[in-house]
Amino acid sequence: MAIQTINPFNNQVVKTFQEMSEEAVDSAIARAEKTFESWKRISYQERATILHKVAALMRSKSTQLAELITLEMGKLIAQSKGEIALSADIIDYYATNGATFLANKQLDPQYGEAYITSSPIGVLLGVEPWNFPFYQVARFAAPNIMAGNVVLVKHASNVPQCAVAIEELFTEAGAPEGLYTNLFVSGNNVSAYIADPRIKGVSLTGSEKAGASLAAAAGRSLKKSVLELGGSDAFIVLEDADIDQAVEWGVIGRMNNTGQCCVAAKRFIVVEAVAEEFLTKFKAKLTGLKVGDPMDESTELGPLSSENAAVQLADQVQRSVYAGARVVLGGKRIDRPGAFMETTILTDIKPGMPAYYEELFGPVASFYTVKDEQEAVKLANDSPFGLGGSVFTSDKNRGKNVASQIDTGMVFINHPTWTQPDLPFGGTKISGYGRELSSLGIEEFVNKKLIRFSEYTDPF
Ligand code: NAP
Repeated sequence: MAIQTINPFNNQVVKTFQEMSEEAVDSAIARAEKTFESWKRISYQERATILHKVAALMRSKSTQLAELITLEMGKLIAQSKGEIALSADIIDYYATNGATFLANKQLDPQYGEAYITSSPIGVLLGVEPWNFPFYQVARFAAPNIMAGNVVLVKHASNVPQCAVAIEELFTEAGAPEGLYTNLFVSGNNVSAYIADPRIKGVSLTGSEKAGASLAAAAGRSLKKSVLELGGSDAFIVLEDADIDQAVEWGVIGRMNNTGQCCVAAKRFIVVEAVAEEFLTKFKAKLTGLKVGDPMDESTELGPLSSENAAVQLADQVQRSVYAGARVVLGGKRIDRPGAFMETTILTDIKPGMPAYYEELFGPVASFYTVKDEQEAVKLANDSPFGLGGSVFTSDKNRGKNVASQIDTGMVFINHPTWTQPDLPFGGTKISGYGRELSSLGIEEFVNKKLIRFSEYTDPF
């Protein structure tokens, strides 16, 4: 894939970048390894100082950085600004709390004394997607850098200016050269570098195909990997839910980032007692959104991230319709330049149709009516994905009970799946393994070392 900015609002090429040569990648890895030797020795306080500076710079350049996001992948500008604020919060959060998460943990063995220390493991490679170009990088880089690791980041090829801007923030914040390095390498070529013994761990957020390829390469070299992959979150509405509230959240859950979130609400599963009411109100809210330039604050429906993404989504809808799904709203590309797709609702979806098992990465909602709570849980779990999900009910205990039966990494009650700096993020099944964020995330790439002290007289 060429490394270039293509504005999805008009599909015009804006800027093209050269892929790095093997020699340049080799030098970058060497620099990172050298920097690790000093970075691992400095105090948490010194690491935090750099990270706080990165966060402050990010906030001070919020508009400029948000415009880069919108230019490169089409996110509505207000949401791009929100992403910058969230990313800065994440960086600050690990700078402030990293030392506490990684403090020695005293154990209580039968004999003698023992404790666990957390030490960094070295140079990490992060492979990141375009859908949240700053947030995805922040949640990989900040905890790992705070832990004493150094990072190489291979960002998605369609957000190169965001990739450069993040590296520049670290440089401007006074980070040592090699602490954070942007690698301009295409996705097809990145796995080849994983065998390099100087790289100690890999983390990928992206598709299952890319995840499987990277994990296979990591496995061949016996390296730890963390995978954050796709999702097809169920959005369950029970008969005792506040339907107006559920509809409001349903629209946000499906439409945020023009539907291109791994944890977007993708499958709306509504019990029959309230299905018609929900669908009528949901359709009304999704009808007539103002289509236009994502840089314009008044636009409500912008383009998808690329022409390819729009072509693929329209094809999934069309193939589902050929197989018998019914279009309640939208269903086609919007007749104008750019990567636009109509807001769409599909019903009558059956196993075997693309909309049933595949991830729909855009403004297309799959709508299912079920008899009751039990059927809702069964359908929610009939998915190869296991990322997030949500359940709407006015009974908190009922919500918790349903949540306990959903086979995913995250379930939200009365809210679409979302993220915040202090909560773990990640999935199960083909949505990946490992976690980012929270104490779980910061511990993925550290050596949890046991230190044991015995008296000579302790038994064997
Ligand atoms: P993608 O094609 O897998 O790209 C993601 C990253 O992987 C890019 O940097 C890409 O580089 C790289 N890549 C592509 N092929 C690769 C390979 N064979 N080996 C190693 N790296 C490779 O994913 P996408 O379509 O851009 O992103 C959307 C997907 O990400 C969706 O499925 C979404 O659900 C998932 N996602 C998951 C999470 C989560 O936390 N679970 C969060 C956000 C997105 P190039 O750009 O150079 O191809």
